[in-house]
Amino acid sequence: MKQESISALETLKFKQTGITWVGKIQGIMFQVVDKQDSETELSIVLSLAPNENKSRLFQELDKAQTSTEITAYSFDSDVVTVTFNESGTTSLENFLGKIAELLDEVQIKCRCSQCSNTENLAFYSNGSGSLLLCGECAAKIQQKNQEELKAPANYVPGFVGSLIGALVGSAVWVLLGALGFIASIGAAAISFCAFKGYSMMKGRLDKTGIVLNIISIVLAFLFAQYAVLFVEFMKEVKDGSLSLFLAYTPVLFKDPEFIKSMLPDFAFGLLFAFLGSSATIRENIRKARQVEVFHMEKVNLD
Ligand SMILES: [Zn+2]
Repeated sequence: MKQESISALETLKFKQTGITWVGKIQGIMFQVVDKQDSETELSIVLSLAPNENKSRLFQELDKAQTSTEITAYSFDSDVVTVTFNESGTTSLENFLGKIAELLDEVQIKCRCSQCSNTENLAFYSNGSGSLLLCGECAAKIQQKNQEELKAPANYVPGFVGSLIGALVGSAVWVLLGALGFIASIGAAAISFCAFKGYSMMKGRLDKTGIVLNIISIVLAFLFAQYAVLFVEFMKEVKDGSLSLFLAYTPVLFKDPEFIKSMLPDFAFGLLFAFLGSSATIRENIRKARQVEVFHMEKVNLD
């Protein structure tokens, strides 16, 4: 962002959280985001209530685009995003003022990002970004936050649930392995059931929760590999039994030739386990981050 724009935002009494500046001009709530991929552009984000006069705003934005004041604009349901050109023909201060005046004139109001409320709006920040919320939604989110903090973490029962889930999921892996397949679908079943078991035991999904689930998934993967080995053993050895297999295990794992012959299969298994689990793990990391977003404070604009 250019120094000129920063000065303008400071003059307008905007507040900065992370790469986002938030502020109010004539009752209109603006978010100005420093575009990380451009030296001379920034994004202006508006959350607007439905209004029959919106075409007036779009006419104005079309004009601004023709005169290179802005590079582009888009709207997704009620959120309008304008890409402002910092080397264009107008200053950020003038442009924001012009938009605020127009919205005021045609009586378009800002809207809560979570509901259709247009009254009692404020920005709330978690330190890295801001959300435009009405008082009711903010109270709801903050209450949810309090409840999550008060609820016990349940790491131990969560881990037990996750481990049981992962072992149940590993049945799919063993079944496919017994049929001679190594498939990422087995790993997907393991990770899905691990997180399912964890949430059934009401384990708190935060960084610790993610690590506990990954431990379960790895243990279940090792168990599944061992179980597939048992199936192979039963196929090869006449009169084989589980107790015989268990008795043989230490002998097998001391044999370097056996270890060497195992490695390619094991490496493939590990690769597929990674491919099959990564989507579920990523999804749960995203959920864990969302919980952290609830730790937020109202941005005081006056
Ligand atoms: Zn709301």
